[in-house]
Amino acid sequence: MTDKYAPRPGETVLDAEVAPDAHVQFIGVIRTPFKTRDDCPRQGRFDGPECRIEVEARFVPALQGLEPGKRLEILYWLHQSRRDLLTQSPKSDGKTRGTFALRSPVRPNPIGTSLVELVAVDGAVLTVRGLDCLDGTPLLDIKPDRCGYSVQAPDK
Ligand code: SAM
Repeated sequence: MTDKYAPRPGETVLDAEVAPDAHVQFIGVIRTPFKTRDDCPRQGRFDGPECRIEVEARFVPALQGLEPGKRLEILYWLHQSRRDLLTQSPKSDGKTRGTFALRSPVRPNPIGTSLVELVAVDGAVLTVRGLDCLDGTPLLDIKPDRCGYSVQAPDK
């Protein structure tokens, strides 16, 4: 019997053990001009400074198809965040709200996301604008913008 989930022609598979649970692996590191949390903007902007996304060499084949000028969604691990607050009172207005009603970096799983504009691709390095994270923030994932150039999957 054939395995319908087997790699299709042209697909490549990482030669390493896949974690059996929800552990995530960092796939690179983000380089920004922001050295402290106070230096970071609250949210990134497309006219913000150029930042570098350094992807680990083993994942470079996974960058195939990325084109400068397109928008990407970047997911990262806000590694300096505490993770134990259920309600928070942001400095900006002091109003107390639940963690899940905020985009604060403080959350049980401190995952941040930003939409960025891809300026250039050079081997394992993406130059982008639109990030708001500290220099050295671990990279979790890169996805094309939802309405961008993703292949439309046919109905099942
Ligand atoms: N754009 C992302 C989102 O909406 O999911 C993150 C928004 S969060 C409000 C951005 C703030 O997180 C920055 O202004 C900075 O204070 C903080 N921050 C940035 N990088 C961080 C890191 N690596 N660890 C902890 N906090 C960080």
